[in-house]
Amino acid sequence: MELRELGGTGLRVSPVGFGASPLGNVFGDIPRDVARATVRRALDLGINFFDTSPYYGGTVSESVLGDSLRFAAVPRDSFVVATKCGRYKEGFDFSAGRVTRSIDESLARLGLEYVDILHCHDIEFTNLDQIVNETIPALLKIKESGKARFIGITGLPLSIFTYVLDRVPPGSVDLILSYCHYGINDTALVNLLSYLKSKGVGVISASPLAMGLLTDNGPPDWHPAPEELKLACRAAADHCRKKGKRITKLAMKYSLMNNEISTVLVGMNSPEQVEENVAAALELSSSGIDEELLHEVEAMLEPVKNLTWPSGIQQA
Ligand code: NAD
Repeated sequence: MELRELGGTGLRVSPVGFGASPLGNVFGDIPRDVARATVRRALDLGINFFDTSPYYGGTVSESVLGDSLRFAAVPRDSFVVATKCGRYKEGFDFSAGRVTRSIDESLARLGLEYVDILHCHDIEFTNLDQIVNETIPALLKIKESGKARFIGITGLPLSIFTYVLDRVPPGSVDLILSYCHYGINDTALVNLLSYLKSKGVGVISASPLAMGLLTDNGPPDWHPAPEELKLACRAAADHCRKKGKRITKLAMKYSLMNNEISTVLVGMNSPEQVEENVAAALELSSSGIDEELLHEVEAMLEPVKNLTWPSGIQQA
């Protein structure tokens, strides 16, 4: 896979990024040897970007990712790791004190001396002025200390990104991570891309499979999508299967098509899923996307296009 520039960070990342929330057993239990084999396969196939959080599986994802990377015994400068702060199993805490402790805890669990990216995790769950006035300044100090090289913000509603980026000093936030807004059923992120470019902020898009909606197995029980979206995605997956095709491959290719999005984070819990998702990227480069199937699936999902769900607190 050809690496892509990650905004203005100077980092170069694989278009398929490794979402490590499944390593926290978020989509079902994963034995340690399978986790190690999955990360190993990802590295072997050219994936160099790994995303985790202390929230995923209540710190389990960070520990398992750290163990798997150590087990793979690859040089530190050959992979890029992002983790997050502010969201925990116990709840949200974006205070300067908590996020400053959080990075030390994450580094200990990951077994690393620094992370490449430290994101504020799901900022819509606090007053956004706290992110602007307290959390980002604390993260800038962490950046100065060398424990994180770059700073990002994540969340579901797209309005959070403009709110924060319009209020922090230019250059203080390097990246945004948006999820479930650049896939076949929801492309709302596209409206923000020129704004983000003008701010010099890099774009990471997560959940190309809409957190399991665009898979044959369907979403986990906790999935927050409205029922009509779940039903439409299930019908689309069935349609692909009846034609002998995989909706996951179509969805991966679709999300990878936009070069302004540096990397697409997909959650993977087996070497086979890594292989299929990397194959989607390679096939996209060599033979493009199945236009006929895409148009059929887009037509089926048209009634629920850009349908999302509430996330976070009411902002003032
Ligand atoms: P996703 O859309 O990537 O879907 C993941 C699900 O699809 C898992 O059940 C996985 O096993 C399955 N899957 C993956 N490849 C498959 C394949 N080829 N065939 C069949 N099933 C396949 O959703 P996600 O995991 O929630 O998102 C990806 C990553 O992005 C996360 O792991 C996380 O790192 C990141 N993320 C971050 C935020 C945030 O910061 N707020 C939110 C969502 C996701």
